[in-house]
Amino acid sequence: MTVESVDVLAFGAHPDDVELGCGGTLAKLARQGYRTGIVDLTEGEMASRGTVEARYREAAEAARILNVRQRVNLKIPDAGIENSEWNRHKIIEVVRRYRPTLVFLPYPNDRHPDHIHAGRLITEACFYSGLAKILPDLPAHRPRRLIYYLCTYEFEPTFVVDITGEFEIKMKALQAYRSQFHNPDWPGEQTFVSSRWFMEAVEFRARHFGYKAGVQYAEPFYVRETIALSDIFPVLSRNLM
Ligand SMILES: [Zn+2]
Repeated sequence: MTVESVDVLAFGAHPDDVELGCGGTLAKLARQGYRTGIVDLTEGEMASRGTVEARYREAAEAARILNVRQRVNLKIPDAGIENSEWNRHKIIEVVRRYRPTLVFLPYPNDRHPDHIHAGRLITEACFYSGLAKILPDLPAHRPRRLIYYLCTYEFEPTFVVDITGEFEIKMKALQAYRSQFHNPDWPGEQTFVSSRWFMEAVEFRARHFGYKAGVQYAEPFYVRETIALSDIFPVLSRNLM
């Protein structure tokens, strides 16, 4: 297996989860010169709208918009993500191939069971990826930090990222998913995520978390560990509270 290292790897249960949860932050990291990648666990084949082929095309377009270098799909069954050894090994292989410093993943308390299972599966696999005796043919690698993004259910964020300058890019990446999100020309069934108010919620949530931090738009994140700042002035002097 060739090593194609990235600085940041963002996991989603379904193609479009990463764009919703941390698309603005990924665009910002790419602008800052970091190498980013996306791993979709499933092909989204259980979605009420669209086809797997269309979803791949949409995901590739969104990756281009976010300036992501790698996007892979692990083809775990949609609506059937299990925290099994088989699936943990799939995640370990991809973590050892890309060797990210930071990993983004869904917060494992959510409306969609796939997001819950994905959050737990990725959390465990990233830990075990640091153990050399598991899949010993691949050099061990443990990401430095797991950063959980918000899907539907809210949490009190550990920090938010100011995406005021990247909010438009995030919305463009979401609009690439023409089969999934609000699209007045789509003839088929309406779903939770395809309604107009879902897209409005993407915007007002970004404004809400931005408002809390004194910026226009922000994405919220949770980490389990306490974060130590070594240089507090540049971070804390920017807020407008
Ligand atoms: Zn999802």
